[in-house]
Amino acid sequence: MSLFITNTMSNKKEKFIPINEMEVGIYTCGPTVYDYAHIGNFRAYMFEDLLCRYLRFSGYKVKQIMNLTDIDDKTIRASMEKGITLNEYTQPYIDAFFKDLNILNIEPAEVYPRATEHIPEMVELIKKIRDNGHTYESLGSIYFRISSLADYGKLSGFKIDELIDGARIDSDEYDKENARDFVLWKAAKPNEPSWETELGKGRPGWHIECSAMSMKYLGETFDLHTGGIDNMFPHHENEIAQSESATGKTFSNYWMHCDYLIVDGQKMAKSLNNFYTLRDLLDKGYSARAIRYQLLNTHYRKQLNFTLEGLQQAASALQRFDDFLRIIKEQKNDIAYNKTLGELVEKTHKDFIEAMDDDLNISKALGKLFELIKETNQILSETSISNDNKDEIIKLFDDLDQVLGVLDKEEDKVLDEEIEQLIKEREEARKNKNYARSDEIRDYLKSKGIILEDTKDGTRWKRN
Ligand code: AMP
Ligand code: ZN
Repeated sequence: MSLFITNTMSNKKEKFIPINEMEVGIYTCGPTVYDYAHIGNFRAYMFEDLLCRYLRFSGYKVKQIMNLTDIDDKTIRASMEKGITLNEYTQPYIDAFFKDLNILNIEPAEVYPRATEHIPEMVELIKKIRDNGHTYESLGSIYFRISSLADYGKLSGFKIDELIDGARIDSDEYDKENARDFVLWKAAKPNEPSWETELGKGRPGWHIECSAMSMKYLGETFDLHTGGIDNMFPHHENEIAQSESATGKTFSNYWMHCDYLIVDGQKMAKSLNNFYTLRDLLDKGYSARAIRYQLLNTHYRKQLNFTLEGLQQAASALQRFDDFLRIIKEQKNDIAYNKTLGELVEKTHKDFIEAMDDDLNISKALGKLFELIKETNQILSETSISNDNKDEIIKLFDDLDQVLGVLDKEEDKVLDEEIEQLIKEREEARKNKNYARSDEIRDYLKSKGIILEDTKDGTRWKRN
């Protein structure tokens, strides 16, 4: 096993060597739960899913930590506008997030720590940074002095020279041009959520949340930190500054960042209003598998150009897998073993791994599977295949699907009786005005490609 990844810190492909031989600790910046995640966000989570699945497939025990940012400028602003508590505001988005992960067949992380449940850890960390001389206070807030660290900017290549000493920034998000001393602890403002702590009454800045939670669950130095490239500056740069100035140790040994999912040449983003949520796409009749496949099949360091046409192509690619496997499973011939085909299956397995070991080259890895399909179909156009050949091919696809998670599995299929049962339950829920449950049932069935149509004679259903 020799996985090579592009470490953003060195900007080079490096052999991945975890601290503990066969265990990997990964920290992933999770969602800010102020709204539904869009599929641009899911591009990042899908890349991380592929990474974790591939590490597991390669024999590693993976401990992935994904935080939930349930307090920051955006969640506070939105909950105040609605006049409800932070928790009342964020919980439905947290629920929706987990539902979407499940629909997209993204394997769950080991821990999903919430920022609001780790305030004491953040306070302790800020105290350490303060004791080591990297902070100053102003009007009850505590700031990180970035000029106190000689290597500030080492991840993103930011140069500190032209900085005005003492210029600071209170907002969580800003760009390189506005790099300033950033806030660790914000003094309480009227009506905003705050905590009474040793640092005074206030609340954490966004960046300290990830430093505190990653080190709590993974230790002061861990293997790998991931996110989308927009997280690199200032968020990850600030995480490094905070953590390393507190511990004096390397924070994360490797960094991986995925490029953007783009629409019409622009990053998909809430602020640009060019986004689709998962629900939008399911409503248009696309299956969760096709969405997963499209999010997966572009190399993580390349921009993913998202189009509905691309989704259609993803659906066709999956159809090719399905048709092929159906034909293979139908083979019932006790004829001689085809050694060349056997070798091809073995080589495909090896080539798939080789491609994935090379910085998760998924496009190449998938290409190898399609080559196998093509060559096997050629054989099948002339003759049948033996039971052993058949078993080997099925095993190959089953094995590799641990990495891909896209195959149509018999055990995932919803049976007619189950559909009827769920429709009954949904009608009952609607009678009782339990619309949350009735929507949940509809969304679940939709994710399995089953479309409900409400008519005056009751609910009809069809498979998509
Ligand atoms: P946020 O909820 O804004 O903190 O973003 C959650 C994750 O989604 C982060 O890792 C971002 O880098 C990532 N992300 C946001 N927009 C995109 C996009 N258009 N393409 C890829 N990743 C994105
Ligand atoms: Zn983070």
